[in-house]
Amino acid sequence: MQVPAPFEYARATSVADALELLERHGPEARVLAGGHSLLPMMKLRLARPDWLIDLGDLAELRHLIRDGDWLRVGALTTHADLLASAQVGRLLPIVHDAERVIADPVVRNRGTIGGSLGQADPAEDLSTVCDVLRARVVITGRAGERVIGMEEFHRGPYETACEQHELITEVRFPVRPRSGSAYEKVERRVGDWAVAAAGAALVLADDGTIADASIGLTALGLSGLATDAAAVLLGTHPSEEVFAEAGRLAAAASSPVEDQRGPVDYKRHLAEELTRRVLRSAAERAGAGALTAVQGG
Ligand SMILES: Cc1cc2nc3c(=O)[nH]c(=O)nc-3n(C[C@H](O)[C@H](O)[C@H](O)COP(=O)(O)OP(=O)(O)OC[C@H]3O[C@@H](n4cnc5c(N)ncnc54)[C@H](O)[C@@H]3O)c2cc1C
Repeated sequence: MQVPAPFEYARATSVADALELLERHGPEARVLAGGHSLLPMMKLRLARPDWLIDLGDLAELRHLIRDGDWLRVGALTTHADLLASAQVGRLLPIVHDAERVIADPVVRNRGTIGGSLGQADPAEDLSTVCDVLRARVVITGRAGERVIGMEEFHRGPYETACEQHELITEVRFPVRPRSGSAYEKVERRVGDWAVAAAGAALVLADDGTIADASIGLTALGLSGLATDAAAVLLGTHPSEEVFAEAGRLAAAASSPVEDQRGPVDYKRHLAEELTRRVLRSAAERAGAGALTAVQGG
């Protein structure tokens, strides 16, 4: 099936207008951002909205603002906008790591951060990035806005805490001193969805030990963060040995399924190896010195 079912179309002129249109057209209305997930689903008849509310004109949702200890990113900010921002690359290098391997320039020019989180595909790279960075999501409805953490935002595959009559309007990233982050993905060919991917963020204390750590996995059946793997890092000096242990625990926490992208044992192996690699990069970016090697490794 390559042609969507019939639908009506409206172009919102403001956030308030979009919310009013959603309310007026009821539960079968859906918002359209870049359209790179929703339109393919409509063509496959996996989605059949009666109304599409196009957010494309809402410049008020396309911003990147440093606000004290936060970087505020409007929901309509595209993958390409994030990749083009030197500020994002400097403060949150994991975002650039991920954006370089999300799809291709055509998709990145239109696909948005709000649409990526709204889609909530388990293989979606920015969800893991937002988990790892402990981002907060601003959800706006007719009654006002609420700001929630990623653990509350995720409800499961293709399900989020953003209700049908609400909008994701902003994603807020904490900016932390002496921190570093990284993302690495294995894909079958350039621009493909992940076979497996891992992301990590570390914050170092004044004495060089790890004060905070978070690890996330993509397309590996882990919901939320790999908390046990991150816990073994706390209070230790960055080292190959402790990163290897965290990699083993992240792999143990994963629950991959066999599909056309690979068997379970291969994906578990990737979970371990990619976790180890992103921890190394994150530590280096946080300013850790040379890592101590694994004994005999
Ligand atoms: C060929 C191809 C390859 C791809 N490869 C990858 C990849 O490797 N990694 C990856 O992570 N992604 C990949 N994507 C997906 C891409 O990143 C999309 O841009 C993204 O998933 C959806 O963003 P969008 O703006 O296009 O959302 P849309 O398709 O417009 O919307 C997606 C969903 O989110 C909802 N939505 C959109 N905006 C909002 C909002 N502000 N508030 C509330 N709900 C909203 C919509 O109603 C819809 O349900 C790929 C897409 C294609 C077509």
